[in-house]
Amino acid sequence: MTSSAHKLGELKIRLREVSDLNSAGAVLYWDQATYMPPGGAEARGRQVALMARIAQEKFIDPAVGKLLDDLQPLAESLPYDSDDASLIRVTRREYEKAVRIPPDFLALFSEHSSAGYQAWTEARPANNFKKTIPFLEKTLDLSRRLADFFPGYEHIADPLINFADYGMKTTTIRKIFSALSGRLVPLVQAITAQDPRDDSCLKQFFPEKEQLAFGEMVIKRFGFDFSRGRQDKTHHPFETRFSSGDVRIATRIQENDFGDGFFSTTHESGHALYEQGVDPALEGTPLAQGTSAALHESQSRTWENIVSRGRPFWEYFYPELQKTFPDQLGSVSLDTFYRAINRVSRSLIRTDADEVTYSLHVIIRFELELKMLEGALEVKDLPEAWNTAYLENLGIAPSKDSEGCMQDVHWFGGQIGGEFQGYALGNILSAQFYEEALKARPEIPLEISGGKFDALHGWLRENIYRHGSKFTAPELIERVTGKGMDIGPYIRYLRTKYGGLYRLP
Ligand code: ZN
Repeated sequence: MTSSAHKLGELKIRLREVSDLNSAGAVLYWDQATYMPPGGAEARGRQVALMARIAQEKFIDPAVGKLLDDLQPLAESLPYDSDDASLIRVTRREYEKAVRIPPDFLALFSEHSSAGYQAWTEARPANNFKKTIPFLEKTLDLSRRLADFFPGYEHIADPLINFADYGMKTTTIRKIFSALSGRLVPLVQAITAQDPRDDSCLKQFFPEKEQLAFGEMVIKRFGFDFSRGRQDKTHHPFETRFSSGDVRIATRIQENDFGDGFFSTTHESGHALYEQGVDPALEGTPLAQGTSAALHESQSRTWENIVSRGRPFWEYFYPELQKTFPDQLGSVSLDTFYRAINRVSRSLIRTDADEVTYSLHVIIRFELELKMLEGALEVKDLPEAWNTAYLENLGIAPSKDSEGCMQDVHWFGGQIGGEFQGYALGNILSAQFYEEALKARPEIPLEISGGKFDALHGWLRENIYRHGSKFTAPELIERVTGKGMDIGPYIRYLRTKYGGLYRLP
């Protein structure tokens, strides 16, 4: 065996251990979010943190850095898109990122995040923003310091964005978001000036058992492999991966609202299809996962919105749903049901927002966090800035902060900067990829209206899923679409779909 083959083998063994430790930590977290009794919380928090710390220590071992240095000539001699060159390239990137942040700082930040999260869980129901100000001010300070471990940035948010969406820059995203809100704001105005659509058919009693069974029947059709995954119940729906053979989703069922559980299930199944579709040859390495927050969200949005809020999908599945819930939906027409699941309204809460307004909620948060990082907005002035932005963009403002700037956990239990952009970029990309899929496989909508998803799922697996993290998001977008990120397809998608549901200018 050559020396570089030997070293590559050693690197893979070390990386597999890191991956196994992270997966074991993920199992602990999954259990906490699904079945663990409340009494386990304190010990579990400690156990999850311990697993993360051991994995981190193993990963930043100088021996890993030495192996990466020694393997650099091998990486350069191999094709850029080969598994091994990609492994060395991506591991080096992650390694260099990890070693720059002192472990003491990480511990300090994580301790502060727990305290901030705790304060938020008490302050939000009491609508007491004031109580969270000192926590948020410290979070802002720590977020700035975190960015400063990566000197040479163009904008202070860039290093923070890099954690979730590597290779995307503040200036690029700002330009895209400003173009997007320029198109969305008039669209929302035109739609919400019309009579609101009636969605009462969704707000009847739908027993949990039948809801779960219907959702699982659908995602099985999508291609979610239940021999390599499962679904459970939780408070905040999520997807998690323990290995290529075990990718799990958790959903939330409300018996008085059919949409809540069903679209959570199809959303999370999109994340899971991505993870189940990663090439098994990449298993146990940093490449064996979706490549960025935006790419991941593009897949959850594809299956949740483009597919399962689409007309072709319900042409096949609505009769099935009527059979499952004959008393509730037997006399409700497909048209009425389709309008109900695609009802657009000005609303205050991001996670409840419809497809047309959703990105505006995200863009508002992105702009506010940039202003805070730039020093142009002080934490104490956040509620006022929030309400002004909502009024300008969505024509509605919250009467209390619990429904305003305190609604999302991100700033309170995480960092300020880099955590929101993926949600809106995901919407843009879902439509951009779908347009490409249609060019290659024009039969997709017809297939979907027959309850089949092989063409779409196959195209996504071939072009996106199997690559895992071999390519950065910008690289992958370029490979798949032949150009950079573009809001055109998303605007076309929204105008075509909602032009059929509302009168548009
Ligand atoms: Zn998601």
